Amino acid sequence: MMTNLNISADPQGNPVRLIDPLLSVAGLSKRYRSGDALAVEDVNFTLGNGEILALLGPSGCGKTTTLRMIAGFETPDAGEIHLHGKRVTQLPPQQRRIGIVFQDYALFPHMSLGENVAFAMRHIAKAKRSAKAREWLDLVGLADLSARMPDELSGGQQQRVALARTLAAEPELVLLDEPFSNLDAALRESTRKEVRRLFKAAGTSVILVTHDQAEALSFADQVGVMHSGRLLQMDRPECIYQTPATSFIAEFLGHTNLLEGEADGEIAQTALGPVAINHHHQGPVRLSLRPEHLALSAAPDDNGATIVEREFRGHDCYYLLEHHGQRFCAITPSHILWKIGEQVRLEPQRTATILRD
Ligand code: ATP
Repeated sequence: MMTNLNISADPQGNPVRLIDPLLSVAGLSKRYRSGDALAVEDVNFTLGNGEILALLGPSGCGKTTTLRMIAGFETPDAGEIHLHGKRVTQLPPQQRRIGIVFQDYALFPHMSLGENVAFAMRHIAKAKRSAKAREWLDLVGLADLSARMPDELSGGQQQRVALARTLAAEPELVLLDEPFSNLDAALRESTRKEVRRLFKAAGTSVILVTHDQAEALSFADQVGVMHSGRLLQMDRPECIYQTPATSFIAEFLGHTNLLEGEADGEIAQTALGPVAINHHHQGPVRLSLRPEHLALSAAPDDNGATIVEREFRGHDCYYLLEHHGQRFCAITPSHILWKIGEQVRLEPQRTATILRD
């Protein structure tokens, strides 16, 4: 497989190596019926070799439509899709070397696990398929069950077979549409970890569609947040969580405090007093401050915030507080617990992020 390396320069003039992306999506738009809103609107992103991207957003935001256009099941109204620099926008799905794993696994019920996996290997000689199928099943820890039928497996095991079958076709890119949502909470977490390990070991590029923010943040190298057909922000999980671009993104990625403030340089005056901000600014600002970045301490007088709700969560505790008629949330380690009705001092411990809206 050829990878083109170009040398370019960053704004400081330092050389940077640009690797041609595996997948490039440019100006992608889709409307299902005239009169309907755009299901996907001007979506642009690139995906590197071996990289895992999670497309995250609420129901109906256009995640699956984006995935289906990349797979070739839907034709975009506008935009281009390139795989390895080759335009594939109009190619049928079977000519794209893209593997797909759906929510319902879609295993062939009348075939054993081994046969299900071997079916995906039409690119290799027939005589070699069953031994190779065992190798793929071994990779997902199910080689001993190769003769079983799909209905003799648990949901998690079926999901692993579906992955083995997808990987056996040796696709350049794997698309996962909510693949863990049929699994119970404990199995979902362990299957997710295992699947990530498998993809990283195989060096496969992946796009995962999910509405579960914890899943997106823990599974992906890049997270793209979608809303109303648009890709609002795409960044590394820690960056998108810590510096969300808008209040929608801040709130979709977890709890947050949205604060109105007046910035003067590196500090903004807010209802919580002066708060450090993530870049120099003058004038009115809207800020996001994560609840774990607020510390609670004993209030020296009656002028503190009042605890109105408490949710003990084992390793931490979530509080809802009221201060001068405004509500705030805080998450603290659970070894010191405050009671409902108690007065506390609320102190920002970290930089708040200036939002675009
Ligand atoms: P979910 O998480 O619920 O699957 P999603 O983010 O994947 O949602 P899409 O399934 O891509 O969203 O849907 C985007 C928009 O397009 C929605 O308004 C949906 O109703 C509409 N839509 C999706 N498929 C079709 C279709 N086949 N015909 C008409 N409209 C459709």
